[in-house]
Amino acid sequence: MTDTFEIKVNKVAESRLPSVNFDNMVFGTVYSDHMFVADYTDGEWKDFRVEPYAPLSLLPGSAILHYGQSVFEGLKAYRTAEGDIQVFRPDANAKRLNVSAERMCMPDVPEELFMAGLEKLMEVDKDWVPNKPETSLYIRPFVFAMDEYIGIRPSANYRFIIFTCPVGAYYSEPVRVKIETEYTRACPGGTGFAKAAGNYAGSLYPAKKAQEQGYQQLIWTDAVTHEYVEESGTMNLMFVIDGKLMTASTGDTILDGITRNSVLALAKEWGMEIVEGKIAIKDIIKAAEEGRLQEAFGTGTAATIAQIATIGYEGKDYDLPAVAEREFSNKVLKTLDDIKYGRQEDNHGWIRRM
Ligand SMILES: *Cc1c(COP(=O)(O)O)cnc(C)c1O
Repeated sequence: MTDTFEIKVNKVAESRLPSVNFDNMVFGTVYSDHMFVADYTDGEWKDFRVEPYAPLSLLPGSAILHYGQSVFEGLKAYRTAEGDIQVFRPDANAKRLNVSAERMCMPDVPEELFMAGLEKLMEVDKDWVPNKPETSLYIRPFVFAMDEYIGIRPSANYRFIIFTCPVGAYYSEPVRVKIETEYTRACPGGTGFAKAAGNYAGSLYPAKKAQEQGYQQLIWTDAVTHEYVEESGTMNLMFVIDGKLMTASTGDTILDGITRNSVLALAKEWGMEIVEGKIAIKDIIKAAEEGRLQEAFGTGTAATIAQIATIGYEGKDYDLPAVAEREFSNKVLKTLDDIKYGRQEDNHGWIRRM
């Protein structure tokens, strides 16, 4: 597939690999040697290249710096015990990038170009995929406006970049989350379903306020009534109540998570009852009070499953059962990890070898 696009490769003179401490990689702080770059000008993607990861040159009047016409993706590559490299569902990320791009008036990145660029980059930087247990290579594709123009309009020029970061095992204590009923992440007709840069800037302030109140994360609620839960931080949100798996249905306020989709697919195969719809806060709180709230967790590429220990609502904290007792999320985490690291056969077509 790579052969259908001519991708020039300009390698670094000296790899930074020997200077990396693979036992201590803080997420998002270690960057691999190279990046894939493509430019959109005159209505088409061109000038495909793999080049050293290096600063960009942007003029102060660049539209991107002012109006945030930018979309991104996040996915991971995993090293199997045999040394092979497996990327989890990159086709789904390529498709979602274009869903986000359309909402931001940005051009499609053809799925074949996304995949060819990723494959070439993985070939050049394959040694950056770490091999210690539970480590991985985080992959960040993104597209942003390149016009130098400070009027408001969709840019005519764009850049598509993919860079990667080796990341350590994701250890996280179960978190304390607060149900947010004042601030809003996404609203009907808005951009919540897109992985668009501005969504994340707007979420920082409410998250900071929650942290000041002793919570690590927020549970976002619907913008209109604040009676229904939507997502948790930058993850999708799931509950197990009375043995049923419950999550908000996707729509224009929910990011259609690939982890969410994978968890639901496995739950369905395991014969679990799934409720995808509007999830009322009052039902969650009632279940917590009656001891029927068995599990609560976020789903996303970074952590796969992020367990919730405590839910805060209207000044009161509700504690959940110990993580060890959470049958479904432990099983789904193990299954997904086993598929990603090649310890279990992938019979869903989720894995792409690179
Ligand atoms: C990226 C993201 C998710 C999780 O998506 P995955 O494809 O599972 O990584 C969920 N919610 C928001 C807001 C996100 O940005």
